[in-house]
Amino acid sequence: MPKNYRITLLPGDGIGPEIITVAVEVLEKVAALEGFSLTFHQGLIGGAAINAVGEPLPAATLDLCRQSDGVLLAAIGGYEWDNLPRPLRPETGLLGLRSGLGLFANLRPARVLPQLVAASSLRPEVVTGVDIMVVRELTGGVYFGQPKGVFADEAGHRRGVNTMAYTEAEIDRIARVALETAQKRNGRLCSVDKANVLEVSQLWRERVTELAKAYPGVELTHMYVDNAAMQLVRYPRQFDTIVTGNLFGDILSDIAAMLTGSIGMLPSASLGATGPGVFEPVHGSAPDIAGQDKANPIAQVLSAALLLRYGLGHPRGAERIEGAVQKVLDQGLRTGDIMAPGLTLVGCRRMGEALLAALEA
Ligand code: NAD
Repeated sequence: MPKNYRITLLPGDGIGPEIITVAVEVLEKVAALEGFSLTFHQGLIGGAAINAVGEPLPAATLDLCRQSDGVLLAAIGGYEWDNLPRPLRPETGLLGLRSGLGLFANLRPARVLPQLVAASSLRPEVVTGVDIMVVRELTGGVYFGQPKGVFADEAGHRRGVNTMAYTEAEIDRIARVALETAQKRNGRLCSVDKANVLEVSQLWRERVTELAKAYPGVELTHMYVDNAAMQLVRYPRQFDTIVTGNLFGDILSDIAAMLTGSIGMLPSASLGATGPGVFEPVHGSAPDIAGQDKANPIAQVLSAALLLRYGLGHPRGAERIEGAVQKVLDQGLRTGDIMAPGLTLVGCRRMGEALLAALEA
């Protein structure tokens, strides 16, 4: 009996349903080629869930996710839900999913493919060969630390407060994910902090340094976040794996993403200590092009590759998908977001067909 995996699909809103359809076809093909099988169950999230059942993350969706081996998410949000109160916003569903599954590690690869070097806003000689993995802590730090809020003193003067805090346990678990990730890549890990100013960063640096001793194959360096932001656009090839906290990671992963110049190409993985991870494109629901067969499905398809590599432990399947993406780009096929003169403009469905054909070849 081939191994069977349960996958929860969360198409969400906007271009979500179009791009996830392509990713499912690709996954089915890879499963057939690699000799395992997949059972898909679809759940509601975001605006689609608000319209259907009045809340952005129904309990049934979270249950479905918890019972699965991995979650493939597309994107949520759209103009229709922008003015709802916070608990009813699509983004609240996304945050609920992350906390409900205990996803504390966010992995964002930023790889400049040779076919798309010209898409970057930086010069080709700066970005050629860039292949960075940003490991961002996702459930701690200043976004979650207490106290938080806007408080008024007796005179009515208000003060906004957020607290950047990390426990040793929170640092240790993200450091381990990053060290293991670096070990599977080129063995170089740069930990980014602000230890010259922040006590929380001093503890971060101390723990990461301590934990790295158990990974002799990994070369650990440290960098202050302001310098890291500068180095990412000055000489990005110096980085292999980067690990950092929630706030710094939020910003640095977007800079790293933009080195590639193509938001429609970027996947991500969010992992917990146990249980299923969530694999999703970095981009949003692109309501401006939804339903028009214009979306680039590649970020979603590469998210499916991360699902295979980090969620199901099938690196070969992931490599097949990544290879197929290279092939269709070599054939000159491009969706609108990555189009360049002299190449062939295709829609989402046609790109999907080309990916399936490339997997066969
Ligand atoms: P967006 O990423 O949806 O779109 C930004 C631009 O990139 C748009 O012009 C869009 O057409 C284009 N684009 C994005 N993905 C593309 C793809 N696969 N193929 C071709 N073009 C693509 O960001 P936005 O416009 O700021 O947000 C739109 C909605 O998405 C909002 O409601 C926002 O809250 C939501 N959002 C969701 C997520 C998520 O689900 N994780 C992330 C970001 C934004």
